[in-house]
Amino acid sequence: MPASVTACLRAELEQLFAQRGWPVFHARQVWQWLYRRHAGTYPAMSELPRGLQATLTHALPLTGSTVRALHQSADGSEKRVLTLADGETIESVWIPMGAHATVCLSTQVGCPIGCTFCASGAGGFVRNLSAAEIVEQVWHAGAAHPRNEINNLVFMGMGEPLLNWAQVARAIQILNDDFGLCIGARRMTVSTVGVLRGIAALAQDAPQVNLAVSLHAATDALRRTLIPHCPTSLHELMDALAHYYAATRRRVTFEYVLLRGINDSWRDAQRLAALIKRVPGKVNVIPYNTIVGGAFAAPSSENVRSFVEYLCGEHVTAIARRRKGDDIAAACGQLRRVLADGP
Ligand code: SF4
Repeated sequence: MPASVTACLRAELEQLFAQRGWPVFHARQVWQWLYRRHAGTYPAMSELPRGLQATLTHALPLTGSTVRALHQSADGSEKRVLTLADGETIESVWIPMGAHATVCLSTQVGCPIGCTFCASGAGGFVRNLSAAEIVEQVWHAGAAHPRNEINNLVFMGMGEPLLNWAQVARAIQILNDDFGLCIGARRMTVSTVGVLRGIAALAQDAPQVNLAVSLHAATDALRRTLIPHCPTSLHELMDALAHYYAATRRRVTFEYVLLRGINDSWRDAQRLAALIKRVPGKVNVIPYNTIVGGAFAAPSSENVRSFVEYLCGEHVTAIARRRKGDDIAAACGQLRRVLADGP
């Protein structure tokens, strides 16, 4: 028996119902009640016979995680701290945009990459998340906001998604299912520091899903200090991205966290423009979000503007990303595993 409904693909749930002798059409009802109508219990699924509701309540939990804490930002975004079945905690962020919303998802408990500017990496790596644990981050946010359609997913929370590709790919299938959440693959973005076999797997298994690459530096020497456990050199990475583009024809998004006095000079911008020229894409310049006890400082607005202007002058598509949720430590690089007293 699977750990929960969220652990199943729809076809697997239907197969399970068939094996147990439960009418298979009820599997699709369960699926739709769970994902479309955010039902959190079987008795809430009024189309199911009472007897089956009782059987399923004992045999197959709908979900396995619970919301342990909720932090709401002045800008409307929300960070949820979830407790998993083994007691570990992860965080995800819900970001509203009018009637729609984006969810930023974690893919691992902790992170093995250890970027020196990131709170998620500071606590080390514990384990990969299961597909169910990834899916439930979306489910909890959707259940809290049934009127806001979640139509964008970014796999940019805690963890390196391409080191957990099998479970991330499975979660994408569940989240993409036509009879459930039905979130389009083209509205999902997977981020990586440069896991080469993962980039190849993404191109092959999910060519419509967007790829974002966390670059942060345009030389290997600086990149090694910012991303100490990055498994690849910039040369290998750009080769892999050129292959990715040839296979998918999808433009790559380069993420560049701007750190005052570290990677924010015009010379850094010049090197960055030269580095990425062979791969069609755009640059998201992300002003560093301060983390308590962190060693880095946020760039000035003037610095952010001139960095972006320089890139644009070199014919690189570049934008400065607006900060969201930094008052609740929900912005990029601020998610962490340990639940502190505050956000
Ligand atoms: S920035 Fe991403 S890859 Fe780097 S330590 Fe944080 S979560 Fe891991």
